[in-house]
Amino acid sequence: MATASDLAGPRSTSVVVVGAGFGGLAAARALSDAPVEVTVVDQRNHHTFQPLLYQVATAGLGVDDICYASRGIFQRQSNARAVQARVTGIDLDDRRVLTAEGVDLPYDRLVLALGAVTADFGVPGVAEHTFGLKSAAEAIEIRTHVLRRFEAADRLARSGQDDATGERALAAATTIVLVGGGPTGVEMAGGFAELIGGPLRKDFPELDLARARVVLVEAADRLLSTFAPRLGDHARQRLEARGVEVRLDAAVAEVEPGTVRLADGTEIPSDTVVWAAGVAGHPLAAAVGLPTGRGGRVEVDHHLRLADRPEVHVIGDLALPPADAFDGPVPQVAAAAIQGGRHVAAVIGAELAGQAGPGPFRYRDQGSMATSGRNAAVVELP
Ligand SMILES: Cc1cc2nc3c(=O)[nH]c(=O)nc-3n(C[C@H](O)[C@H](O)[C@H](O)COP(=O)(O)OP(=O)(O)OC[C@H]3O[C@@H](n4cnc5c(N)ncnc54)[C@H](O)[C@@H]3O)c2cc1C
Repeated sequence: MATASDLAGPRSTSVVVVGAGFGGLAAARALSDAPVEVTVVDQRNHHTFQPLLYQVATAGLGVDDICYASRGIFQRQSNARAVQARVTGIDLDDRRVLTAEGVDLPYDRLVLALGAVTADFGVPGVAEHTFGLKSAAEAIEIRTHVLRRFEAADRLARSGQDDATGERALAAATTIVLVGGGPTGVEMAGGFAELIGGPLRKDFPELDLARARVVLVEAADRLLSTFAPRLGDHARQRLEARGVEVRLDAAVAEVEPGTVRLADGTEIPSDTVVWAAGVAGHPLAAAVGLPTGRGGRVEVDHHLRLADRPEVHVIGDLALPPADAFDGPVPQVAAAAIQGGRHVAAVIGAELAGQAGPGPFRYRDQGSMATSGRNAAVVELP
């Protein structure tokens, strides 16, 4: 069986970073001057700039605009390299990361930056009949699907089938439902409204696109609940001005093929449902017995380490730092992952140098932004 030394070469201290997302990359980059050999392992061969996934899904950007080859990223960092492998387990006692490819990665220090996964909160039909938006592949899948549904709508319209069945099929083909009024739902809604009102209107001149719908469904009484209320109101107004139907206080009860059913019994015919209602910590953490708390996130100490295994750090969306790390739970955003990555690199570097490390991790809020279409965004500064 191959081992990390086949992949990373012999060095005194081996740091394995699992996940080439914002947190993993920041940790690996910040270790560039440390006397360590860094192996960054990710199931994909690229880093994905997730904040712009919605642009790929709504046909505003191509995949190459938001994906960066991991090996290329580390070409100029002599003590680091990236490998593509899917992590399937961690032997915490033997200090080895296990992969589906059969390559074991022994470590002296482990940085877990596996991120989060889409959470369906047990709502029936979500796993089977909705799209998530966590990867470039999913973004492309959404885009391809939407364009295919509009092609299908064009065929239906031309077929002349104007009975109730035909009308419903046409409505479902041209209705996009976004579930979750956070930044992702808001950005997707704005993007799809612009796609339908612009390029698709030109591409399908014989389709009555005034009947196409973009519906944003949110269980709370306002959009962007992590922003100030007036910013959520502003985003709603901008979306509605673009023709988006915003449904607040509306929980999804079930998703079936072609239909979204709300808790109040309302049915929305739709072949395209994107679930952006929430995330949970990557399930591998719980599967290997790490202590998980709120949202499936791993409870870590003030240096983002496991309490009983200080050689294991957890950062980014997967980590749940102590309460005093922020005014409320540390948000699952890119800046928190990057700051966490840099923090653990500083801790590891100081330990190896026999120096005093940094103070406890504290997340520094740098503000948030959500766009609601071209030239429209809300920004909250700390
Ligand atoms: C659609 C969307 C929009 C967003 N918009 C914003 C925004 O505007 N601003 C903002 O600050 N944040 C935004 N975020 C959140 C931000 O992207 C995350 O907080 C950030 O990516 C977390 O970084 P991370 O390193 O913890 O995890 P990720 O960046 O998610 O990286 C995790 C990595 O782990 C890898 N991985 C997963 N499972 C395995 C496995 N079994 N084996 C090997 N590798 C694995 C993945 O391939 C991935 O590369 C958005 C997220 C999404 C999904």
